[in-house]
Amino acid sequence: LLLPLIFTLFVLSSLLLWKRNGRHSLADDIKSGIENQEFFLVYQPVVSSEDGKAKGVEALVRWQHPQMGLVRPDLFIPIAEESQLIVPLTNYIFERALADFSQLQLTTDFRIGFNVAPEHFIQSDIEAKFRYLRDAFAEIGVQPLIEITERQLLTVDMCERIAALRELGILVAIDDFGTGQTTLSLLQTFTLDYLKIDKCFIDTVGQDSVTSHVLDTIIELCHKMNYVAVAEGVETQEQADYLISRDVHFLQGYLYAKPMKLNELELWLKEHN
Ligand code: C2E
Ligand code: CA
Ligand code: CA
Ligand code: CA
Repeated sequence: LLLPLIFTLFVLSSLLLWKRNGRHSLADDIKSGIENQEFFLVYQPVVSSEDGKAKGVEALVRWQHPQMGLVRPDLFIPIAEESQLIVPLTNYIFERALADFSQLQLTTDFRIGFNVAPEHFIQSDIEAKFRYLRDAFAEIGVQPLIEITERQLLTVDMCERIAALRELGILVAIDDFGTGQTTLSLLQTFTLDYLKIDKCFIDTVGQDSVTSHVLDTIIELCHKMNYVAVAEGVETQEQADYLISRDVHFLQGYLYAKPMKLNELELWLKEHN
């Protein structure tokens, strides 16, 4: 009886060790990847439901890993968050977007949405950093917007810092709305500008009425609380028509455009605005 037990323990512990080593080396790769500029941004237009024109984009990070090739953010963002690398990575992303968009001629009030992890708001000099970003983006005609996902719980302290950023003129969106755990209590405690309705709710358009009731309720909540509603993952005209008929202000999804590199985005904007 003892032998199989020892064997199982051995296998389990080596598996654990292997997993940890794998994670460690990926974190190391992220660190060197930032230094070597292996990360780049793609941009997905966010379209106004009133006139169909792009009022801004969401910046989405991509990683061109020297051995693994193109790595999706779902894989490395959680590791960056765990290994304290999300702050340097996000700072790199801000600078990269600044460099990218200083090359473009933009319509007025162009907004760029950045996905910012809650850890970012722990930094003590966050206000100074965002004051700098606000001014640097203003110079190229861009209003930065931060999209916050509550994968982790937002603490009271974080909420206060985010509120201070809004005072600076930074737009704030709650991302993947409806999928987090504390979203409703969060809405009671602090004010935001945008609510991004998660794709999983948009997918319910045209399905049986019970599931699409949830979408209707979220949209109603947005209107009642005076939030600007943004629908993500819009793929079909049926979904778009439904959302437009219910006054969802902004739409984003493959129906309009996939995330694009800067040069493709430039062409897209010329054709569509
Ligand atoms: P998200 O913020 O919910 O971003 C939307 C995701 O949906 C993106 O995936 C986008 O490419 C995809 N998408 C957009 N329209 C459609 C559609 O019509 N159909 C489908 N099936 N998908 C659509 P992506 O780029 O792979 O990013 C995945 C997640 O990784 C993001 O989810 C976000 O949470 C995170 N992420 C991406 N870039 C960053 C970043 O720069 N910083 C941080 N902290 N997280 C990021
Ligand atoms: Ca987002
Ligand atoms: Ca989202
Ligand atoms: Ca989402």
